[in-house]
Amino acid sequence: MYIASLSSSSTCGNAYIVWGDSARPVLIDCGLSIRRLTASIKEFGMEPQDLAGLFITHEHSDHVRAMCLVTPFAQKYSLPVYASRGFWKWYSRYSCRLERRLMRPIAAGEEVVVSGTRVKAFSKPHDALEPLGFVVECDGERAGFAMDLGHVTEEVRSCLRGIEHLVVESNHDVDMEKRSGRPWPLIQRVLGRLGHLSNDQAAEALSDLVTAETRQVILAHLSTECNTPEIARTVVLERLHKAGKKVPVLVAPAREIAVYS
Ligand SMILES: [Zn+2]
Ligand SMILES: [Zn+2]
Repeated sequence: MYIASLSSSSTCGNAYIVWGDSARPVLIDCGLSIRRLTASIKEFGMEPQDLAGLFITHEHSDHVRAMCLVTPFAQKYSLPVYASRGFWKWYSRYSCRLERRLMRPIAAGEEVVVSGTRVKAFSKPHDALEPLGFVVECDGERAGFAMDLGHVTEEVRSCLRGIEHLVVESNHDVDMEKRSGRPWPLIQRVLGRLGHLSNDQAAEALSDLVTAETRQVILAHLSTECNTPEIARTVVLERLHKAGKKVPVLVAPAREIAVYS
């Protein structure tokens, strides 16, 4: 199984590709311009039409930019799009031309198989309309994606515990966020139960989620203003060490492409 982070932050957008030796690639989120998204996909010798499907976590612009166009990315390449009913309700307000046949509602707890890749959706607490996380399975391995969540629920834990590749948000350092000088309502939103995971919250969750089966942890969706890769990684590694768990901890760059296998 291969996981590519094309971009991972609220300022630069979010998009991830997962593929296997025997499975066509799936795209998780498309928060980049079509031009940048297409160029990033081509970096791997793939074409956008090679994708088997697009899975959308929620409607915030850093996750759906390429969908909110007169001709959305998925329409241009005839790509089926899997998203929650909440997302589709929100999307119907736009005058974007995505054919109905490409709109595939998926609910938390539901599982779909697209061209050899199994994807299971789960719900997560975030200030969006029915936001989803995904567990992608191919080549006998699983990658769990949980970005943009305010806290870690028992449902999230049970979906991610023991997964081979954990892609988990480690958004901010709480003190940096509080001292950021950002508008107070924004700070409250980020720190709130429906906002984003702090480094400490991610570390606490990962000390539970990582098992002997876990091959790597990829910290994602780091704030470019209120976090650094070094701080996030250190906090998580220390907590894992305390819990007696040893696993490589990597950080998805905010804007650059990175591949993990
Ligand atoms: Zn986001
Ligand atoms: Zn969001």
